Amino acid sequence: TKNVSVVSTFEEMNLKDDLLRGIYGYGFEAPSAIQSRAILQIISGRDTIAQAQSGTGKTATFTIGILEVIETKLKDPQALVLSPTRELAVQIQNVIKSLGNCMNCNVHACIGGTSLGSDIKQLQKGQHVVSGTPGRVADMIKRRNLNTRHIKILILDEADELLSKGFKEQIYDIYRFLPPGTQVVVLSATLPHDVLEMTSKFMSDPVRILVKRDEITLEGIKQYYISVEKEDWKFDTLCDLYDSLTITQAIIFCNSKKKVDWLADQMKKSNFTVVSMHGDMKQDERDHIMNEFRLGHSRVLISTDVWARGIDVQQVSLVINYDLPYDRDSYIHRIGRSGRFGRKGVAINFVTDDEIKSLHDIENYYSTEIEEMPVNLSEVM
Ligand code: ADP
Ligand code: MG
Repeated sequence: TKNVSVVSTFEEMNLKDDLLRGIYGYGFEAPSAIQSRAILQIISGRDTIAQAQSGTGKTATFTIGILEVIETKLKDPQALVLSPTRELAVQIQNVIKSLGNCMNCNVHACIGGTSLGSDIKQLQKGQHVVSGTPGRVADMIKRRNLNTRHIKILILDEADELLSKGFKEQIYDIYRFLPPGTQVVVLSATLPHDVLEMTSKFMSDPVRILVKRDEITLEGIKQYYISVEKEDWKFDTLCDLYDSLTITQAIIFCNSKKKVDWLADQMKKSNFTVVSMHGDMKQDERDHIMNEFRLGHSRVLISTDVWARGIDVQQVSLVINYDLPYDRDSYIHRIGRSGRFGRKGVAINFVTDDEIKSLHDIENYYSTEIEEMPVNLSEVM
């Protein structure tokens, strides 16, 4: 196989004019490290495994690859992007639309929680790219509303999540409907060994761009912990921090939907303004919360891991783990909601004596430092 060079400008990538204009029009000046390394590999047609830290531009990496290889004359889906949450699928749709702005590229978000009728209607209009969640995409394929005949590239964003228990079967299911030889690109900030092994089932001789475990955390995100003697104390600690949360925007993570509801209730009862979101809410409510948060109209959002992966809101500079996540990968993705594309961020972990051991495990696993939080938060923000 031919070696593809690493380039340092978008011009050197020899992209279509309309695509290059879309990239500059969107405000990008130069490619990030992962974009320099992976875009030409993707365009060359090779299966690609692309790991890069959170917020370093993986979305544009695959988007530019897709836009370069599709033909807009052909009004059938040619690229399929799968991601684990509806909000992420819509966010990706918007990035593809924006970068493909000058190319007249039709991009459809095929996600659960929306009406089947309108989904079908949109697909019938003729879409070049589909960005969706696995359940609805599988459904649309089986109903023959999503024509897979011309698909030449499949993207698995947050691939390790898509290949975990909850989604794996659906992904294999979808894969079976794609033309033989469909190019596959998988991306994530975390790609554990077992996931890498699994990829051999649907990728052939992939290019591997990987990050060492001790380089996954971002230096721009400072990590702290606050130890509380009892779980009950976490609430008062959060209330004490509230003013600092609203300086920009903050995400507070809990481990269950029930806990999110409870915490949002408690905060509201104490006259703090917060919004909350989780997977049991109706989709229109989720959309509303998401839009208001993106616009900066709400500043403090309490959520579950439905918000842990991929969501890009540049103003988020603070992440609080009210509950420490159960797994280490989730930790990386949660704190990565701040510190997007080189911005500074702060992560604060609330830990009881029971949780402190897990915190040290995370610290060791990623060779990172999580310090005790200074008394005055203004020292760190
Ligand atoms: P990742 O998927 O790696 O976590 P995203 O693709 O969500 O990261 O990108 C993070 C942010 O960086 C986004 O707001 C995106 O617009 C911005 N970004 C990506 N590439 C560039 C670039 N080349 N120049 C400037 N900003 C960029
Ligand atoms: Mg991403």
